[in-house]
Amino acid sequence: MTKEAIGRSMEIIVLGAGTAIPAIGRSPAGYLIRGGDTDIVLDMGSGTLSRLHTIGKSYREIDNIFISHFHSDHVLDLIMLLQANNATPGWTRVTTLRIMGCSGLKKFIDSVFLLFDGTVPENYQLDIVELGPGRHSFPGFQLEAALTRHTSNSLAIRLEIEDRIIVYTGDAVECDELITLARQANILICECSFLAGFETTDHFSADGCGRLAHKADAKRLILTHLYPETDDETALLQAQNQFKGEIIVARDNLVLDT
Ligand SMILES: [Zn+2]
Ligand SMILES: [Zn+2]
Repeated sequence: MTKEAIGRSMEIIVLGAGTAIPAIGRSPAGYLIRGGDTDIVLDMGSGTLSRLHTIGKSYREIDNIFISHFHSDHVLDLIMLLQANNATPGWTRVTTLRIMGCSGLKKFIDSVFLLFDGTVPENYQLDIVELGPGRHSFPGFQLEAALTRHTSNSLAIRLEIEDRIIVYTGDAVECDELITLARQANILICECSFLAGFETTDHFSADGCGRLAHKADAKRLILTHLYPETDDETALLQAQNQFKGEIIVARDNLVLDT
């Protein structure tokens, strides 16, 4: 689908379908969820703000962010956003910015304040919410979180906005917690770092993405967070062997509506 899809009831825009490793068309992790009256940015790898700008979404309008874990390919532009909120000529943020994320988020933000001049909010409130596994309610959306075994605190989330369910695994290992979390998701955004057979203890491979979508009875599966050596076509075939629903291999700027 194309950017013309913007404006429908619920959209997912892939801002970064890659990892920390440079790759053409796959930038570090970032996703914009547009649903109802609520926009949420999932992860903020480097370049996320620029790509939001490119699709016409200003950093000034970002009110909700989810951070899955603290690897650099998921957080670096959060630092840029904190600076931009204070340092825009002729404008300063006054609305509350909510940052939700895994345990350790408060300590992480405090470390950013210490390391990066100009990031402490000057005229606005920062609402930092460390999410444990389980359900959480916010104005406009429900959220369920689960640990993903990628790092000790890494989280996946299930977003329920109006009648739509979007699940984002963040970086993750194939595990039962994710099957429960992804149950009957309209869209399952699943990290797909490697092809089947690649030895990994902290990431998914393509066959595992398909298995998760099948076991969870998801409607659509989006493969993302591909390392450069992970071949798109092979990843798609390996996932298709496990899951008979629609599968899309993501690249930057993919727009999906539900
Ligand atoms: Zn990552
Ligand atoms: Zn990671």
